[in-house]
Parts: sequence; structure tokens; C-alpha cells
Amino acid sequence: MKIAVISDIHGNEEALDAVLALLDQQQVDRILCLGDVVGYGPDPVSCLSKVRDRCDVIVAGNHEHAVLDLLDLDYFNPIARQATLWTRTQLDAEHLDFIRSWPLVHHEADFSMVHGSLDNPDLFDYIQTTWDAHLSFQLLQSPVCFIGHSHVPVTFLLSDVIRYNTDDVIELHGGLQGIINVGSVGQPRDGNPQASVVVYEPEQARIERFRVAYDIEKVQQKIRDCGLPEFLADRLAEGR
Ligand code: ZN
Repeated sequence: MKIAVISDIHGNEEALDAVLALLDQQQVDRILCLGDVVGYGPDPVSCLSKVRDRCDVIVAGNHEHAVLDLLDLDYFNPIARQATLWTRTQLDAEHLDFIRSWPLVHHEADFSMVHGSLDNPDLFDYIQTTWDAHLSFQLLQSPVCFIGHSHVPVTFLLSDVIRYNTDDVIELHGGLQGIINVGSVGQPRDGNPQASVVVYEPEQARIERFRVAYDIEKVQQKIRDCGLPEFLADRLAEGR
């Protein structure tokens, strides 16, 4: 069984297409999505439609909760707020019903998944320190929890202590548990502009990260054509 996990697509259809092509090559059996399918990017509708076709579990991100008015727009900086208001103009009632059906957390025997953190998932806290990770590890019943939100691919590993890890291949043997930030498909912020995705093989307790190139200039032009803030185009090329 090969399970792909994607997150933070942010309306970037070109990045999503490149990732889905890689996952087809990899012949994955399932695709999970950790939310923030919309927000920032120029193609929220086509990204929603592709995620609906291809992903079998989707949890909600803060951008979905903002679009649904479940999260106060004061949570966002002015650029994210402007992008959220634009995204709302693109979505119809059916899109909103689809988004509203997504839970905040999903658990299976082999994994848990959440956009922000297992503790108070509705607050969309970031897991950035080992203390943040500790709060989620306390609630983790399975070997691994997949998270997104920060757009920075990183792993926290729990054995006797919690360790920070940036390896591309993680093996969870001997009772080791992991919190894996899968990085972002549509707006990476770790200095690498390529789309990020992980593939999990539960039988092997193995997780591998992949980065995928896509046509960034095409997406930048679409962002400008939509009248979205220029910064949202610039940042894609820099991965910030
Ligand atoms: Zn995001």
C-alpha cells in the first residue's frame, strides 16, 4: 500500500498537476489531503475539482475555515485577507458545501492527519518547536501524524525524546512515532520553490519526500491577471 499525502495546494493548479503526475508514476493507491486547497492562488475551483476526484480523505485548513466564515479574517495578514475575499468571489454554494463537509482531524490505524495540530485543531496552531510537537504526540495513537500549515517540510520523531529531522526518507521502526509536515504543493516556504509531497508505505513504516518542478512563471502570470497581490506571485519563485 502506497499512500500519498499532499497539503497547502493554495489554488496552484500547475503545482497540483505536477504532483499528481508524479503520484501516477509512483502508482500510489490513495491520496490524502491536509487542507488549504484554496487561498492565495488563482485556481481555487479547478483545484477543488481535482482534489474531489483524486483524494479519498480531505481535512480542512485555516483558509477553508476563513472562506466559510468559521475563522475571523483578523487571523490573517492583509495579503491573505485580500486573497480570501477574492477566493470567496470564485466559489459557489456547491463548492462551499463540499468544503464544509471536511473534518478537522481524521484518524486511521496507520496514521492521523490534521492541518495544524492534534490539540485544538480548530485553532490552527503551528507545530514548530518540540514543545508544540509534544502536545500533539500526547494525543497520537498511531505511528504517524501528517500535518501541513507551515509550508515547511520537517519531521519530529519521538523516542525517549523528541528530535527534529529534515531527512527525505524516514523509517519508523522500534515504536518510533513521527509528526511529518508534508510541506506545501502550491506555495513552499523552505527556500525550495518546487512542490512538496510525501509517500507513506505503512507496511514498511517508511515515508519518503519528493519535490516536483512545475511552471512557476505561468502561475505568476495568472496571479497578476486575477489582480491578486504581486507578493503572492514573487514568493513562488523564491519558495518563501
Ligand atoms: Zn497554507
